Amino acid sequence: MTIESNPTSVMTPAEVTASCWSCGTMRAVHFCSACGKVQPPSPVDYFAFFSLPRKLNLDTTALEREFYELSRKLHPDLSARADKREQEWSLEQSSRLNDAYRTLKDPVKRTEYLLRLEGVELEEQSKAATEKARTTGEIKKQVVPPDLLEEVFELNMQLEELRAQKKLGEDDPALIEEIGKQKLELEQKQDALAEELKTYWSNWDELVDSGTEKSRRQLRDKMVDLLNRRSYIRNLVRDVNEVLEN
Ligand SMILES: [Zn+2]
Repeated sequence: MTIESNPTSVMTPAEVTASCWSCGTMRAVHFCSACGKVQPPSPVDYFAFFSLPRKLNLDTTALEREFYELSRKLHPDLSARADKREQEWSLEQSSRLNDAYRTLKDPVKRTEYLLRLEGVELEEQSKAATEKARTTGEIKKQVVPPDLLEEVFELNMQLEELRAQKKLGEDDPALIEEIGKQKLELEQKQDALAEELKTYWSNWDELVDSGTEKSRRQLRDKMVDLLNRRSYIRNLVRDVNEVLEN
């Protein structure tokens, strides 16, 4: 994880020029509130796209309602928009709407997105890091969370054993059962992490309004740590499934 010096290139709603190209009235991010015409896309973040504050607790029912409402208003086919530019903007805005909705409705994606807006580059998503690893030939490996070291070691040995057995066309039901049990425990850990993440959301939402930069940074680090653990466990479960299903 690295903190970039220039956190984000998106603009806040206040920075977006706010008059309608058609009638000159103050406009919303997507369309004019007076004449209804679709506006050229402005580079706002996904929260601003939905006129939401950058907070993590989010009413997903309201978000869904807003999504369908905006989908209708921005739909490119809507009454064959007269202006060609407006048609193009409709397409762009609709696609942005879909991206924004997909990102914000998912608890983990939403958290990762907010962290990126905050200047955090998450290990797993860093394409640059993967490319670099590829060109330098080094293997990009996730660090094992210290409290999982023993379990992971044990599990990997068992997976290795099962792979070897399968190659010989046999398998040991007791070993499969044991691996299945460990998989279940990992999945329970994943659920527990999801719950823990929610408590961080509430902390974050309070700090957005009143916290110091230091307290925000500490909480960001905690969330990054949790997401790394979660993604580590998820990859492990994926490995287990691969071996069990083959
Ligand atoms: Zn207008």
